Formats: sequence, C-alpha cells, structure tokens
Amino acid sequence: MRIIRVKAKNPFGKTKIPGAKFVINQYIGCEHGCRYCYAKFICKWYDYGEWGEWVIVRENLPELVRGRFVNGWVYMSSISDAYQPIEAEIRLTRRILQNMNKNIRLKILTKSDLVLRDLNLLKEFKRVEVGLTVNSFDEDLRRVIEPKAPKMERRFKALENLHNAGIRSYGFISPVIPNLTDLDYIIERTKEFVEYYIIELLNLKMSGKFGSWLRENYPASYNIIANEPERYVGKIRRIVAKHNVKVSKIIIH
Ligand code: SF4
Repeated sequence: MRIIRVKAKNPFGKTKIPGAKFVINQYIGCEHGCRYCYAKFICKWYDYGEWGEWVIVRENLPELVRGRFVNGWVYMSSISDAYQPIEAEIRLTRRILQNMNKNIRLKILTKSDLVLRDLNLLKEFKRVEVGLTVNSFDEDLRRVIEPKAPKMERRFKALENLHNAGIRSYGFISPVIPNLTDLDYIIERTKEFVEYYIIELLNLKMSGKFGSWLRENYPASYNIIANEPERYVGKIRRIVAKHNVKVSKIIIH
C-alpha cells in the first residue's frame, strides 16, 4: 500500500451529494479496493497506480477542523472510506472527530466496523448519522469484488452496536445486483437496528470496467440492470412493503 502524505488548505468542501452541503475527505483513495467503486474516476488525476493500492492522507485535517463550524450536513468521505484499514493505525478520522465542533451535523458512510471504536466520540455530536454499506454478497464473491472490506456479518453487527449505543444509523444497500444481492435477507437481518435504508441499483456507468466483468460472469444480472431496471425496482418495492421499513430513496441510474 502506497501512502502519500499531504497538507490540505481547507477541511470542508461544498458538495452536491443529496442530503449534504459539505464534504470532508481526510483520505483520498481507498484500501478497500472495491471493483465497482464509483470513486475510481479520480485515478485520472493521480498517477499512483491501481485503485486500492494507494491512499493520500491529508494529515493536517485534525488541526484544520479545530474551531471551525459549517452550517449544514457534512458528509464524511465521498472518495474513500473514513474507516479503511490504515485508519486503525494512524487514527486520522478519530483525531478529526475529537477536534471537530460537536454542533456540526455529521453523516458518515462506511463499510467497516472500525467505526465502533469511535462510539464515544460520535455520541458527543448533537446530530450524527452513521450508515453501513450492506449488500449480502457471499464470502467468495465479496473477496473478489470488495477484497479488503470487512465481512458482511461484521457490518450487520456494527449496525446493531450503533443502534444499541443510541446512534442514529441507516443501511445503505448498494450496489444492488440482481440475483447476487439478497434484499430480503439484508432487511430481515438489520431492520431492528436502522432508522431507514437507501437502496441503490448498481451504477454501470460509474463502475467502469466492472460492468464488463459483470456481463461476462453474471450476464442475467447485467441484463436486468442494463435493460430493465424499472421492472426490478418493482421487485424491490414489494420486498420493502413486505417488511414495512422506511426507505428514504431507491436509486437507479
Ligand atoms: S469502500 Fe467505498 S470508497 Fe472504498 S473502495 Fe469500496 S466503494 Fe470505494
């Protein structure tokens, strides 16, 4: 893993991510190395190698956030995962949370149960939401397409622990891939612990070469996403209705 340490000028950037006004990216690049990752496009600006093999660490963000306040939801990590493996060692996210104004409204989305390490800090924020990406790929498949992300069971458990600690949490069910994502199981397994879900069908365009891989290995799944996503959304809605859970949005591309 190549680590590139840099100094940033501004901790918060404006964003068009739905539901947020600002973004904070303490890492650029992600060790989890998901094959479908929508953030891979940034590789065209950084000549450090394949996605998942390098991470830029903006090491002065803990100092930069101190004493700053921004009015509006802040989304933590849009081009990385704030709790990717390196975080266990360098604790950059933790130090940012320690120094951040606790009146800031904060949203974190992660694939890692390392977020539980910071439960006490998260509880200090007046308004905070933590989402876990859950998609139910079996272990063989997860190792191929989300090679360094934690196992699914650990993510389910993380949602349970967040809930038990009183942190508002949500399940980000993404990417949904027909025949590979068991929506029924995910909701059954997590509905007691989440406030709501966001459900997203795989974005073929943003996932780059992953689309070709999917077409080759799972042509039926590919065809549904490419040719009849609306019909599949009907199936999603029926499962959601069966469980009677809150879904803030279902995203198709
Ligand atoms: S965890 Fe998120 S940011 Fe990291 S590689 Fe996977 S999809 Fe991309």
